[in-house]
Amino acid sequence: MRIIFAASEGNPYIKSGGLADVVGALPKELVKKGHECIVILPKYQDMKLADTIEYVTNFDIWVGWRKCYCGVFKAEYDGVTYYFVDNEQYFRRPGLYGYDDDNERFAYYDFAVLELISHLDIKPDILSLHDWQAAMIATLYKERYAYYEYYQGIKITFTIHNIAYQGKCDPALLSDHFGLDNYLYYNGNCRNDGCLNFMKAAIYYSDAVTTVSPTYAQEILTDEFGEGLQNILGMRRHDLYGILNGIDYDTNNPATDPNIVENFDIDTVEEKKLKNKTALQEECGLPVDPDIPLIGIVTRLTWQKGLDLILNRLEELMKRDVQLVILGSGDAKYEEPLKGIAAYHNQKISLNLKYDFKLSCRIYAGCDMFLMPSLFEPCGLSQMMSMRYGTIPIVRETGGLKDSVEPYNEYENSGTGFSFKNYNAHEMMDIIDYALNVYSDKEQWNGLVKRAMETVLDWDKSADAYLKVFNSVLD
Ligand code: ADP
Repeated sequence: MRIIFAASEGNPYIKSGGLADVVGALPKELVKKGHECIVILPKYQDMKLADTIEYVTNFDIWVGWRKCYCGVFKAEYDGVTYYFVDNEQYFRRPGLYGYDDDNERFAYYDFAVLELISHLDIKPDILSLHDWQAAMIATLYKERYAYYEYYQGIKITFTIHNIAYQGKCDPALLSDHFGLDNYLYYNGNCRNDGCLNFMKAAIYYSDAVTTVSPTYAQEILTDEFGEGLQNILGMRRHDLYGILNGIDYDTNNPATDPNIVENFDIDTVEEKKLKNKTALQEECGLPVDPDIPLIGIVTRLTWQKGLDLILNRLEELMKRDVQLVILGSGDAKYEEPLKGIAAYHNQKISLNLKYDFKLSCRIYAGCDMFLMPSLFEPCGLSQMMSMRYGTIPIVRETGGLKDSVEPYNEYENSGTGFSFKNYNAHEMMDIIDYALNVYSDKEQWNGLVKRAMETVLDWDKSADAYLKVFNSVLD
């Protein structure tokens, strides 16, 4: 089957978070399974590999009342065809998101995806939409494009990577940006809580809705996690599927990763991890000591990631014999207090307030433990990357963290990490203390490391699960 993926970011061209990892890896896996995959991305100024893409064509499109230029570029990567839609007014700026006209920028993108299909004659069987930026494609398709003969029969799936970002805006944008009649707001199809809501509309209009872990699929049906969309999701619950993301085994591979000091695999992890660890300590300006437990954190610094718990117990943690390497950037609310504590404990904490892919690889490879106490976590990739690199995750049991980390059981000698249930700083501290205790028993710890590394976290099974959903909507 031919599947077109519409998403606002994707590896290896542009990434701000886990969405790009998924869009980079899932199509590649589906191609391996014999399907044709096309990914359509905006052509951003910050795109990597921009010199490897080639111009294809251009045409004009309408975004509400605006006539806009739409250039199309193309590349082939890992068997996947990538198209990039080019409009400098909307995408020739630094970064990806965070502009006042983001809704208009992605309204443009949504039209561009649909128009590109007929201009290049690449009608798909499945149009797979991802997150709020691509969400309105579902509405545009069902309310307008599906009436044209050429477009008939395309099935739409919508994947929620994070329900916290929905694309909420002024109802007037429905006609102004999308050229759609306001009755689609008043009849509730695109409305939630007094706003035009892109994600709500996609949940309503898509043939199936998927999200990125089985636990998160259950959680978003509740008032606690649904972010106001629990009712519409409840109505679509028979078409809602939770499919755990995998990680890209080619790029996240300690045996071949060019960014780490010593490559290793499951047979050499004990010896070689130590070399990565001491090199990381040196790089981060921490005292070099192979025996001291080294805890890593790689994250966006936002409330979602459990930073409140970490800040609450950081002074307490500093009383233990540990070192901490933090890599992240985000809210000043977290950056500022972290700066203060890290400066005070500069022999124990290395704080790196930036986005640095290479350093992230060295943290996954060099640390003993990886802390990820998220308030909510649709799937989470960092815990999987750390497991693949033999770094033991300490997580809160939510969303994909619960689905991917099996809690350590000292009686059965099983498990791949440590987890705690409630969003409570003391519970987190207790489990960190427990992990530190287990760390001191080398035999137990090495068993944990091996089991974590053996855990299968690739895309094979997950891609099959997506295919099952695609086939069910085609039927
Ligand atoms: P989310 O998508 O919510 O940010 P995920 O765990 O799904 O969280 O994915 C985060 C991805 O971004 C991981 O690949 C992680 O390594 C990477 N990442 C996050 N922050 C940084 C950073 N400051 N530097 C480098 N990589 C980062």
